[in-house]
Amino acid sequence: MSIMVPSKTPALITPGRQALDSALHQLDQASEHLGLDDGLRTVLATPRRSLTVSVPVRREDGRLDVVQGFRVQHNVSRGPAKGGLRYHPATDIHEVTALAMWMTWKCALVGIPYGGAKGGVAVDPAGLTTRDLERLTRRYVNEILPLIGPEKDIPAPDVGTDEQTMAWIMDTYSVSAGYSVPGVVTGKPMTLGGSLGRTGATSRGVQITTLAALGRPPEGVTVAVQGFGKVGAPAAQYLADAGCKVVAVSDLTGAVYASGGLDVARLRTWAAETGGVSGYHHADALSHEDLFELDVDVLVPAALEGAITEANAPRIRARLIVEGANGPITPEADEILAANGTTVVPDILANAGGVIVSYLEWVQNMQAYSWSSGEIESKLRDLMANAFAEVKSLAAARGLTLRQAAHVIGVGRVAEAHQMRGLYP
Ligand code: NAD
Repeated sequence: MSIMVPSKTPALITPGRQALDSALHQLDQASEHLGLDDGLRTVLATPRRSLTVSVPVRREDGRLDVVQGFRVQHNVSRGPAKGGLRYHPATDIHEVTALAMWMTWKCALVGIPYGGAKGGVAVDPAGLTTRDLERLTRRYVNEILPLIGPEKDIPAPDVGTDEQTMAWIMDTYSVSAGYSVPGVVTGKPMTLGGSLGRTGATSRGVQITTLAALGRPPEGVTVAVQGFGKVGAPAAQYLADAGCKVVAVSDLTGAVYASGGLDVARLRTWAAETGGVSGYHHADALSHEDLFELDVDVLVPAALEGAITEANAPRIRARLIVEGANGPITPEADEILAANGTTVVPDILANAGGVIVSYLEWVQNMQAYSWSSGEIESKLRDLMANAFAEVKSLAAARGLTLRQAAHVIGVGRVAEAHQMRGLYP
């Protein structure tokens, strides 16, 4: 485990390092519960492959920049590595490793035949032109080319990337292969082999798990959503469509509140036209901090890691938190919330809809076949509902939180795969 744990000098404790500490803490708890031996624990705590690359980019204005990029394959015991690609200025190797580890448990938990991976480039995409982004993406892909492929490691969109990014990756990989390889990425545009239902899949999963965890009709249930991007905005929409009252949302530009409920479709149009939710006429402005402390039934953190810490957890009034984002709650905050009786539907369960439909997209690509949106929706619902029921029943049987139960199932399946395969040579 020493390979994974760098210096604890305060200056080096980045948000990414905190995310990795959280992921390792959750793994420790699950390993203890499962009674895994030290050797297997170390295997599970250690990424299989980590690549750090320097990506030179000639900017449109003539400048030459060099940015750092990462690709981490945490585990491949159950199938090819799978995970998103993040463009964010604060991303680092620790954050990418944590996100890759969560992907491993998530894929095992929902029963799809993948290991976990993640990629990152330490850059602010908002500061780049489209042409710069394309050059950066193609060069980054070229640097990590030996690692990826439809049978090896399949990237997908995450924070700061989208279906256009995936199209550039697919093209760069295909040019190198000499033929079109749609299965190298998921979350692609439909014209390149994307799947029906992929765009809103993560959010659909958030809706499914929220309704399952509520255990009562959604009509009038109040919701606040932190983050109004690819996950948060459609999640707010789907929850409103189901009958919930979405009273507050936030993004980097600010937070807005309407006690009678926001018109989510209208707010999405406003955010698309103005660049964010701030200034929306039909709601009051709210501070980012106040959103967490609203007297709502459900809170959906759908931005970044470490949003809920021991500092704000005691003031959270929502009885149900559904993690659209990966790692939004620190372990210290988790304990406070559990002691206060707050139910947390953990990230590896709540936001698994994205990787489930990514898997369905990949299966369609590998078979050169396509399913209808109804078929996709029904497979997504089945896998999410099964995983939720398994987690809930294990938590009840063993007195665990939903996060602990989800990790026991995910980590347990990966440990079992290692034990069955044995060690080569
Ligand atoms: P995105 O870049 O599309 O959206 C992120 C949103 O969060 C933006 O609206 C941004 O303004 C907002 N935000 C950032 N910092 C904030 C802050 N401090 N306060 C309030 N809002 C803030 O990213 P995304 O794809 O929606 O991903 C969001 C989270 O969901 C990440 O944790 C990601 O790993 C996770 N996730 C994404 C997918 C996917 O399919 N895109 C799948 C599973 C999990």
